[in-house]
Amino acid sequence: MTTVHASGHAIDAEAAHAFPRPLGAFDGEEPPDWEGILDCVHCGICLPQCPTYRVLGQEMDSPRGRVYLMRAATEGRIGLTENFVLHMDRCLGCRACETACPAGVPFGRLIEETRGQIERKVPRTLGRRLMGRLLLGVFPERQRLARVLALTRLYQRSGLQRLVRGSGLLRSFPRVGAMERLLPALPARSANRLPAETLPPSGPHRGTVALLEGCVQALLFPDVNRATVSLLARAGYRVVVPDGQGCCGALHLHWGDRAGGRARAQQNVAAFADADWIATNAAGCGAALRDYGHLLGDDPRARVLAARVRDVTELLAEHLPGPRRPLDLTVTYHEPCHLAHGQRVREAPRTILRAIPGLRLVELSESDLCCGSAGVYNLMEPEIAGQLLVRKLDRIAATGAGVVASGNPGCLLQLRRGLADRGLAVRAYHPVELLAWSVEGTPPAERG
Ligand code: SF4
Ligand code: SF4
Repeated sequence: MTTVHASGHAIDAEAAHAFPRPLGAFDGEEPPDWEGILDCVHCGICLPQCPTYRVLGQEMDSPRGRVYLMRAATEGRIGLTENFVLHMDRCLGCRACETACPAGVPFGRLIEETRGQIERKVPRTLGRRLMGRLLLGVFPERQRLARVLALTRLYQRSGLQRLVRGSGLLRSFPRVGAMERLLPALPARSANRLPAETLPPSGPHRGTVALLEGCVQALLFPDVNRATVSLLARAGYRVVVPDGQGCCGALHLHWGDRAGGRARAQQNVAAFADADWIATNAAGCGAALRDYGHLLGDDPRARVLAARVRDVTELLAEHLPGPRRPLDLTVTYHEPCHLAHGQRVREAPRTILRAIPGLRLVELSESDLCCGSAGVYNLMEPEIAGQLLVRKLDRIAATGAGVVASGNPGCLLQLRRGLADRGLAVRAYHPVELLAWSVEGTPPAERG
């Protein structure tokens, strides 16, 4: 295939790889990977798999279009214009294009590196900057998030929420309104930290697992962490919860804050040095951890950590805990993008669901198409996220299932909000909550 180099000469794609990379509109601090950009052969196979292309139907909102824009900017043919930024902002970062791409274009890394450049080089609106401060200053910081949730609990329980919702005030602040609607009804008390050394393992010893507690997962879904620890111990794993751990950095990287993401990665590389496996039960966190080797390229410990990361369902599918009681449930499974596409974990969650006697697993059409959550995408791009949620809910309703399972807190929040708004009698749980129900005999707590 013929291509045009920054020099203006027509050359074939193979020869283009041999040229030193140009920078064009980018600077030398982690520009989007030139080799990765050149890997795109413009075949278009990724287009039907891309959620934003499906919703918006525009080439520039497809993976191929975005790679084309990155290339044009790298070659200096365009700048980091408003239009360029718009199409990059609209990307969910779901990485469905990576699964589809026969040429191995590393799109997830390309978009994160491009966003890193945009955040440093392009002046953003005041509203976006304030939103960034709020999101990055609260969600990844456990103490601050706990304080915000304590205030939210007061807001929900005092009746103020009913008043505010009834007043229509939030219509003037759509992003704040989207955040407010997303929060589930909080339990009366906040979640405690898991102890550093948890239950003793039972049966044959399978090795030591260090659990990443997560930020949103730990505080909004403590039952998922509790079920994770209990099931891993019953399966024979010694479970530890390293003290020095922090946020995985996914939110920072998604936002374009490369330095913030790297600082979180360095903290976790130090905290998780000694385990056989690092388990996550939040798909977005797992995908971020698995990319630490690339993010911290000069630290060999990061590559070792990345190779030891497992989604909790992978560990449990290998050594299923039991005995398992029957559950008379019809369940469908929504695949979190960062599990299916980011980590290529597709079968393990289905395996643990199928291992529950009596449970009928019904396949969901387009199960790996994004639900619109995508980190904070549903707050920043509520219209596109809303259209994806409607599409997802239509398909969930068509299965006739009473439960939808999904292993990511963002997906669970998005699905629960959508199910409640539409009045569908479908509950949303993490797969480990259902397995723990079968093993322990207690149903998961009902949350709004
Ligand atoms: S990451 Fe998702 S939204 Fe972005 S281009 Fe790829 S498929 Fe489309
Ligand atoms: S499938 Fe891969 S090579 Fe083909 S257009 Fe999409 S990104 Fe480019």
